[in-house]
Amino acid sequence: MTDLKSMMPEELEVYFKELGQPRFRAMQVFRWLHQGVESFSEMTNLPHALRERLETECVLTVPRVERKQVSKLDGTIKYLWRLGDGNCVETVLMRYKHGNTVCVSSQVGCNMGCVFCASTLGGKVRDLTPAEILDQVIFTEKDSGETVSNIVMMGIGEPLDNFDHVLRFLSLINHPDGMNIGMRHISLSTCGLVKKIDKLAQLGLQLTLSVSLHAPDDETRSQLMPVNRAVGVDLLMDTCRRYFETTGRRISYEYAMVEAVNDSDEQADRLAELLRGQPGHVNLIPLNEVAESPLKPSRRVRQFQQRLESRGVTATVRRKLGGDIDASCGQLRRRRILEGETHTPEEGLT
Ligand code: SAH
Repeated sequence: MTDLKSMMPEELEVYFKELGQPRFRAMQVFRWLHQGVESFSEMTNLPHALRERLETECVLTVPRVERKQVSKLDGTIKYLWRLGDGNCVETVLMRYKHGNTVCVSSQVGCNMGCVFCASTLGGKVRDLTPAEILDQVIFTEKDSGETVSNIVMMGIGEPLDNFDHVLRFLSLINHPDGMNIGMRHISLSTCGLVKKIDKLAQLGLQLTLSVSLHAPDDETRSQLMPVNRAVGVDLLMDTCRRYFETTGRRISYEYAMVEAVNDSDEQADRLAELLRGQPGHVNLIPLNEVAESPLKPSRRVRQFQQRLESRGVTATVRRKLGGDIDASCGQLRRRRILEGETHTPEEGLT
């Protein structure tokens, strides 16, 4: 089955040419797909016979709302989507003064094993296709009636572990005849896969790279993030420096603050030392508690921020949105799995 929604217009042109169709079909179909049609029969400017042919030869991904939670505090909406094969992923719509941001997932589950994260508890089930990543934005707009102006790839999964599909998603969402979201309105967060960061740097995209640092030393970071055992903080920081030199884009470092693990004054000092001489920004995230983990949120977030600032590092504290609906990703899918379902492939993974 051909996945037309994962194709760029040039590829659709080739596809329709092979079907003996005029060139403009490609753009007609591209536009329909990016508007979130739910069947080929909705593509009313296509000949009937062609619509029927697409129906039999192509897959049209349509995520179904499995669960939707709306925060009473700030209007944050969290979707749990059920995909065509029964797997579920999460998307969060956040409302800011400067516009709506959507946080998308890139994989079903995750293999990175960070100990504080709900998304990785059952491992990775599979990568999402470019269309399935794109659908999260299209169908969030469609369901909520809101326009999305910013994207953060901070949902379930490690985007750089699904490199090709994520890159294609970025080209699709950036396309002027599609959602037309500019690269400067997109952030991509990684746990620090250095080879992939180098590969991304070569593309020179204007997106914002966020690196999940979470600790300034190998001992603490390896304890929180198994990925660090293979890479190490020094190599990661060298790679980040190179990324900045190549792209001119400053990196945002995420730092989830965990009580008595990474929140001491000494660690703030080490972090400041680590970032010296490179333009970066630290985003402090108060830890979201995950039921399966003994880790607790730090109560020293402000002190830690001030200590960084006094050493010349710009640091902000991430505002918590959707506090009443578990808005951090991974938790809704996780709960769904734990509740037990009769027909999902995730069953048995936990
Ligand atoms: N795989 C990507 C995206 C993960 S989610 C990455 O590792 O960056 C986006 C951010 O949320 C990451 O910085 C991640 O480490 C952080 N995060 C995950 N679980 C968290 C939790 N329970 N509390 C606070 N931050 C968390």
